[in-house]
This record gives sequence, structure tokens and C-alpha cells, in this order.
Amino acid sequence: MPYEPPVECPLCRETLELDQTLETHLVGSHTHREVARYLASHHERVQPRSVSD
Ligand SMILES: [Zn+2]
Repeated sequence: MPYEPPVECPLCRETLELDQTLETHLVGSHTHREVARYLASHHERVQPRSVSD
């Protein structure tokens, strides 16, 4: 079985337990609002933005 590196939560930077998936962590440790806010801010960062200065 190939070695799987530990998964880090993108919201709280916490390294998950080996038997814990990111989905399980998000559902158990974060609210839908927190996850939604993270996705929204991440999405905004990806959007091209004109340089104003
Ligand atoms: Zn987390």
C-alpha cells in the first residue's frame, strides 16, 4: 500500500488523523458557514483583478 502523506485542513491548518478524511473533519469541526466562507474567499482570490496602482 503506497504511503499517503497526512492531510492538512485548508481552513485551520490542522493535520488530520490518518483515519480521518478531510470531509469528516470539515463536517465535524467546521460549520457550513466557515466552509462556504473559505471557498468564497478562495474563489475571489482566483479571480483576475485589475491593478489599480
Ligand atoms: Zn479544520
